[in-house]
Amino acid sequence: MTDINTKAVVVGAGPAGLAAAALLAHEGVACVLVGPEAPEDPRTMALMSPSIRLLERIGVWSGLLSSSCAPLRHLHIFDDTGNMIEAPELRFAASELGLDAFGYNVPLVQLVPALRDVLTKSSAGRIVAKVARVDISETAITLVTDAGETITAQAVIAADGARSMLRETAGIAVYNWSFDQDAMVTNFDHSGPHNDTSTEWHRQGGVFTTVPLPGKRSSLVWLDKPQEIARLIALPPADLAKEIQLAGHGALGLISNVTQPRSFPMRGVSAERYGARRVFLVGEAAHVFPPVGAQGLNMSLRDIGHAAELIRDSSDPGTVDVLENYDKRRKPDIEPRQLAISAVNHTLLAESLAPHALRALGLRVMSLVPPLRDYVMREGLSPQSRLPEMMRN
Ligand SMILES: Cc1cc2nc3c(=O)[nH]c(=O)nc-3n(C[C@H](O)[C@H](O)[C@H](O)COP(=O)(O)OP(=O)(O)OC[C@H]3O[C@@H](n4cnc5c(N)ncnc54)[C@H](O)[C@@H]3O)c2cc1C
Repeated sequence: MTDINTKAVVVGAGPAGLAAAALLAHEGVACVLVGPEAPEDPRTMALMSPSIRLLERIGVWSGLLSSSCAPLRHLHIFDDTGNMIEAPELRFAASELGLDAFGYNVPLVQLVPALRDVLTKSSAGRIVAKVARVDISETAITLVTDAGETITAQAVIAADGARSMLRETAGIAVYNWSFDQDAMVTNFDHSGPHNDTSTEWHRQGGVFTTVPLPGKRSSLVWLDKPQEIARLIALPPADLAKEIQLAGHGALGLISNVTQPRSFPMRGVSAERYGARRVFLVGEAAHVFPPVGAQGLNMSLRDIGHAAELIRDSSDPGTVDVLENYDKRRKPDIEPRQLAISAVNHTLLAESLAPHALRALGLRVMSLVPPLRDYVMREGLSPQSRLPEMMRN
């Protein structure tokens, strides 16, 4: 049994927790990461340029990671709902913003080991166990793991996922909702080039998104009704390849080498506030929403950037003032984005025409008003005014 005293603890060793601990250690904050090793995850993450800057700062971007990721230079959105009122197609290019790329598509099987590696070489402590008990007092927060270790700290970054125990202990209320929808993820080869383009097909039932990988390879996130996703997952690989080719309108040529697909249930989780009682919520402990527009981990890295800056710069980061400051910084970024994405997703699941017409109208207005189109492109990349300093250009 060990007793540890430190400035900050990060709970949860998923992508958000690993990045948070690596960043705190890089900023010279005494910290310990507590959580079991996460199982291998086949997803790839479209990470925008501010997120890549954070990975550069931590020291995981150069070398292997950058060479196993593909740049995202174009984003195309097509209406494939077959509805009477059709939304116009939208084509965005990073060059319109004077950028080489919006960001990169990063496989978690590469990102997670790279973060673990940097962490091992850092000053951060590591406990591979679950937090079983939490005590919060006026002056400190104490965690007890299921292996019996006790860790006392001034503040905790809770990266313990959608069912966060830390969130509950801090007394932070949460709104949960679900969509009648699953996501299927897989990677595949294609005979044509992707031209560094991520393409979203807005279909009745959900968005079908291909995201480039190095070479003639792409990753896919396909949202649809759970029974349709179950049918697709049960198909032999050659039949699934044909379905992907059809749904993607053959834009990538012949599809082959489809990896074992995995499904994820679609739901929403929204915390009432993002910090309280010495606990900073980050990642899925703070917000969960469907993977449309690649916002989840990007937003999590912004949570981490803000939390790390506040913890680094405060003599006691667990005080009410610091946590209120964190909450104020995160709300204007998280809430409108979560609302917009959930609304777009709901319209694709709606059976009546009105929500589809509303979505089509919104996209038409966006395509006809250049300043609005520019604003949406910039906001999709990052909320310029609310970026943590360490993620700014
Ligand atoms: C299909 C799909 C595609 C996506 N694509 C993108 C994308 O392209 N771009 C993007 O930005 N985002 C994307 N996202 C979102 C992204 O995947 C999530 O934001 C991210 O994985 C969340 O990571 P996390 O570390 O917060 O949560 P998790 O990965 O759930 O990690 C939580 C960790 O906490 C641990 N834990 C739980 N309880 C305890 C405890 N008591 N003690 C210690 N540890 C505990 C768990 O073991 C787990 O390892 C996608 C999501 C989905 C579903």
